Amino acid sequence: MNKTYPFRLYNSLSRQKDIFRPKVSDKVSVYSCGVTVYDYCHLGHGLQAYTIGILVGYLKRLGYEVKHIRNYTDVDDKIIARAQQRDIKPLELSERMIECARRDFLSLGVLENFTEVKVSENLKAIISMIEDLISAGHAYATDDGHVYFDVLSKHDYGKLSGQKVDCHHASAREIKSGHKRNEQDFVLWKPEKIEGAYWASPWGDGRPGWHIECSALAKMYLGDSIDIHCGGLDLIFPHHENEIAQSECANGCEFARFWVHNGLLTIDKQKMSKSLGNFITIEDCVRRFHPEVIKLAFCQNHYRSNLDLSEQIFIQTLKKLLYFYQTLQTCEGLMQRLDMPYICQKFKLAITLHDAKCIPQEVLPHLHPHGAEFVKLLEEVTEAMADDLNTPKAFAAIHQVFKLLNQVMAGKKSKEIAALCSWVRQHLDDWFALFGILQQSPEKMLHLLSLQGIEALGVKQAEVEALLAARATARENKNWMESDRIRDQLEQLGVAVLDRAGETFWTLA
Ligand SMILES: [Zn+2]
Repeated sequence: MNKTYPFRLYNSLSRQKDIFRPKVSDKVSVYSCGVTVYDYCHLGHGLQAYTIGILVGYLKRLGYEVKHIRNYTDVDDKIIARAQQRDIKPLELSERMIECARRDFLSLGVLENFTEVKVSENLKAIISMIEDLISAGHAYATDDGHVYFDVLSKHDYGKLSGQKVDCHHASAREIKSGHKRNEQDFVLWKPEKIEGAYWASPWGDGRPGWHIECSALAKMYLGDSIDIHCGGLDLIFPHHENEIAQSECANGCEFARFWVHNGLLTIDKQKMSKSLGNFITIEDCVRRFHPEVIKLAFCQNHYRSNLDLSEQIFIQTLKKLLYFYQTLQTCEGLMQRLDMPYICQKFKLAITLHDAKCIPQEVLPHLHPHGAEFVKLLEEVTEAMADDLNTPKAFAAIHQVFKLLNQVMAGKKSKEIAALCSWVRQHLDDWFALFGILQQSPEKMLHLLSLQGIEALGVKQAEVEALLAARATARENKNWMESDRIRDQLEQLGVAVLDRAGETFWTLA
């Protein structure tokens, strides 16, 4: 932790990892494309919001002041269609879905990372940007009230996605009423007067196209040029390409310096999509697995790779989290030895539980022969995170830290070891706060995760309790054979029994 590593972030625009520095010394502006709110949020939305949360949290950790704007698309064809099916107003449906999205993002601990903005509350900014594009010759209105962006008017259109524009310009005869000049021209304004989803504009009543919303909201809340624009990989074309075209033509400067795209989520190898109907909602998932299990499963994957989750992976992740909490519980027991300061004569130090984090690194090898290894592993975490937020690499090192902690704690208990474990624990805590895991009391989580774990394995809590009671009776009667038989039976169900200090505990095997 002596070294500093420059933060290298993969930029889809330059197609390489670039060293990140904000345009204005210590301030970072981030825009991310949010949810189109016609249904409940699925786990893919959770992954996206969580990934950006890690980026925002990491930037704050580096000392930057971050302003992150995330939109809710609350005006859209799908919202209108769904609202009509239910016989309610479109904005009534989207408002309900925004409430649910907030609840879901809160459960994943990502709600505080962003300021939410809604399309329906910013029509003035959207219309004004369309007017700017028309007057600069980058957009045109047709006589039926459509407004289109003229892609041939931007010389470097396609620079993000690599998509080339087909240079076919329609002749005047071909441009009939409501027709585009070029097949790839995209809509900025749609002339449709749908109850509860239309606004007055210079081109008649209607509503904005999807792409212009993000360009206008980013300008309105963050300015003409921003540091980082985020979104899912599936948004590169056409959405982000079109955002660049609109913003750069309207503002006359580079729109976003960094384009950050996260991979997509599949469940049992099936693409999660609301339109396909095979999605798992965040709400359903949180009901079965603690949010920390979900977040740990997200972290095991690099954010730019696609992630495939399954019941099996959630159970494995739950066991890993259980192992982390068990280690922390042992660690806490040991740390109580620091109620009185540990005096380190050689270095003239008095170490208490509160300032263990400040122990200089060179002291650690004197506390335990493995002291220097902890320093090296924590250095690896720092280095991995600076390298394009490589969370799988960081977690590989964190796993080694836990293994080593268990090894050290299994030996002789002393104040030296307690001081070392406290140092490690306090340094890890900063990372765990960023990842949003290991934020609960070990005791509470060990119980809850064990319960969720056996349930996921298809075992009822009552069945486990009945077997434990039968085993207790057998032990009272000193019937060791019966007691061992029940222990084996529990183990086959996936439950491990521990007898400690006259008490019996159980956990996942
Ligand atoms: Zn967008």
